[in-house]
Amino acid sequence: MTHLPRTLVIVGAGFSGTTVAINLLRLSYWRPLRIVLLERAYRMGRGVAYADKDYPYPLNVPAGRMSLNSSDPLEFLKFAQQRLPGATADDFLPRSLYGEYLETTLHDAELASPPHVQLTKIHGDVCSIEHVGSKRSLRVELKDGSSFIADDVVLALGNPPPGHVPGTERLAGSRRYISDPWASPPQFEPGETALIIGTGLSMADAVLAGANATFHAISRRGLVPPSQTAFRHAGCDDDGAKLLRAASLSARRLMRAVRELTDEVQGRGGDWREAITCVRNLAPTLWHRLPQPERARFLRHARPYWDVHRHRLPQETLAKLHDLRRANKLHIHAGRILGFELVGEKISVQWRARGSDEIQTLLVDRVMNCTGADYNPIRSRDHLLRSLLAQGLATTDTLGLGLRTANYGALLDSRNRIVPNLYYIGPMLRADHWECTAAQELRIHAERLAHHLAAPAMAPVLATPRSAASLRGAANIAAF
Ligand SMILES: Cc1cc2nc3c(=O)[nH]c(=O)nc-3n(C[C@H](O)[C@H](O)[C@H](O)COP(=O)(O)OP(=O)(O)OC[C@H]3O[C@@H](n4cnc5c(N)ncnc54)[C@H](O)[C@@H]3O)c2cc1C
Repeated sequence: MTHLPRTLVIVGAGFSGTTVAINLLRLSYWRPLRIVLLERAYRMGRGVAYADKDYPYPLNVPAGRMSLNSSDPLEFLKFAQQRLPGATADDFLPRSLYGEYLETTLHDAELASPPHVQLTKIHGDVCSIEHVGSKRSLRVELKDGSSFIADDVVLALGNPPPGHVPGTERLAGSRRYISDPWASPPQFEPGETALIIGTGLSMADAVLAGANATFHAISRRGLVPPSQTAFRHAGCDDDGAKLLRAASLSARRLMRAVRELTDEVQGRGGDWREAITCVRNLAPTLWHRLPQPERARFLRHARPYWDVHRHRLPQETLAKLHDLRRANKLHIHAGRILGFELVGEKISVQWRARGSDEIQTLLVDRVMNCTGADYNPIRSRDHLLRSLLAQGLATTDTLGLGLRTANYGALLDSRNRIVPNLYYIGPMLRADHWECTAAQELRIHAERLAHHLAAPAMAPVLATPRSAASLRGAANIAAF
């Protein structure tokens, strides 16, 4: 019996889309398959995280924990060692090398795939997707007017730009305001003073790119991420049960259980990062267990502390930030920004330090928004996402964390029904899984989705996403 080729369109060729394609090519699909990988940027396999930059730009995660393949955890390291023979699993390697790894692995998987599985890479900007016929197919339309009919579509749209910072509308159109550091690479003139809004990972990237400028960085609590360490994760089976019990009760009980676990780990001479990894491995199940009002409470009270311990910096990066602080080139403030005003060639920034009533003014040459990706789909300015929401083909969770999905990332519509043949993979899975940002989590979602798509008779999608237990089985997620 001959089969017509099935067409699978993947929108977005950052880490997630590229990894889904690689898995599908490696799985040797049983019948003719055409994979169309669509990317609006000029290079595949990069996204905002792994692009080439003309300044040092290391990964935030050591090489030994960046494989895209959970069954070969050192795959990236082995690739890197072909270029950098001395590289070790604990090294923080250049982001552009990681982009090269994604591109090369895709290319190799394409070459090794059977003749009935084809990959077509196309540069284009998808602006709409809609069902056609009896809702068994989807039409994928590009901005240039071309379109594809697909049997399945995987949306891998990635990291949205940072959200709007109130008051910055007064800076609209000024080249002195950088609203998206990933779209406009930081370019600071020697001797100038800049304000960075945010004190997290993007702040570190921006500051280290701007040698010879002076920086003020402000966030509500002024928390700077701690360093990564080369700790060894010992597993946490008994502690896991305690965490799960606590999560069924309340956010407060959960946080208390996390603190107890941290104390216990440190008490036996371990590293607190081990406890965070333990919690992270269980995060989707913990998130499912937390009652809805308790999720909101967690976000209100615990999120900044969770985020700052969870997202860490390479030791070398942190040491450079300390040096800049000692040299008075970097000032970290805890406080609230009250407003901005353009004053000639400068920007005047009013702000108030945390716990103080006094209004202070900073006169700076540039302001950069480093508050991190804004994942709330309702606020998205992306034409494709807006179109999907308007058609009811996608919906957000009540906390605005991302997109609602079922098992395998199948999108849920505005009435919480599974949208046939439309899948999502990427950081907006956090609406149902909480932790879903780093390569180590996304690779597992990519593997599961590819297996589902490649199954001879695709398993039915269940409305409730499969929880962390299955993710845990696939790999232990180490710290990012
Ligand atoms: C600055 C930064 C640094 C990071 N560093 C690390 C790290 O060191 N280690 C780690 O594990 N994780 C890191 N992360 C987490 C990161 O989210 C994931 O590792 C991963 O890059 C996410 O991949 P993605 O494919 O989901 O998104 P992205 O990499 O953002 O890719 C999405 C792609 O989709 C394309 N696209 C979007 N919409 C359309 C459309 N309509 N039509 C066509 N193409 C479209 C975009 O152009 C983009 O290339 C980092 C994230 C950021 C933002």
